[in-house]
Amino acid sequence: MTTKDDEQAFKAVGFDLFNTLVVAEAQTLQLAMARLVERLRQNGFSLEEAAFNAHYATAAVWHIGQARESGRETHNRFWICDALNRLGNRLSPDDPRIADAVEAYFDAFYPNVRLIPGTESMLETLKQRFPLGLVSNFTHGPAARKILHVLGIDAYFSTIVISGEAGYRKPHPHVFDMLAEGLGEENRRILFVGDDPEADVHGALRSGFFPVWMTYARDGNLPFTSGIFSEGKTDPDSDIPRIASWEGLFPLLDGRF
Ligand SMILES: [Mg+2]
Repeated sequence: MTTKDDEQAFKAVGFDLFNTLVVAEAQTLQLAMARLVERLRQNGFSLEEAAFNAHYATAAVWHIGQARESGRETHNRFWICDALNRLGNRLSPDDPRIADAVEAYFDAFYPNVRLIPGTESMLETLKQRFPLGLVSNFTHGPAARKILHVLGIDAYFSTIVISGEAGYRKPHPHVFDMLAEGLGEENRRILFVGDDPEADVHGALRSGFFPVWMTYARDGNLPFTSGIFSEGKTDPDSDIPRIASWEGLFPLLDGRF
């Protein structure tokens, strides 16, 4: 039996990436789609954009739906391949022309992501006292790592778990266990901050972490807060701490700030 004080003696902090530390400009997904289509054309495919986009959306929803159901992460190459094949091609998802187009798609992200206000100073402050980790549901690992690097925050994390590399996605316990192992702490000693009610908050809770719900992006109605990129429709219970800025996080960390 642990006391309440024991339970709140956090030894490490984990974070989600998108809409928790980082947001993307509103036009990012449209730009990424335009880059994708442009690169596929350069790579020899003749595409009618509206038809391709419709097949792409259908295939993406299906693959992401499967991934959510199984907890196994998927990858953009599968739905790009499906969309191209519906237009009369006979391609494998491992076709190098598809891999190249995936890179073009994510190239649209790097100039269009920014840190949520105060993120870097928050990480700097916490880093003095806790090991920090990150778990992101992101299909293409190299792009997630490049986003962290471009924004200059990669070095703050002693462990980085990207679903596209781990093979599983939040809320699957495997990725939370990987975080705990990387941080070298028991799950119950780790506070985990994320914006998605199901993937982050309920996922962390079921894995024995202490969840904190970050609502900055949701409160500001920023992109990626709805549609296929949002996992959770049910808000966390009111006893889950909810923060809308980093000032709200410090009082939750054991009164050490
Ligand atoms: Mg998120």
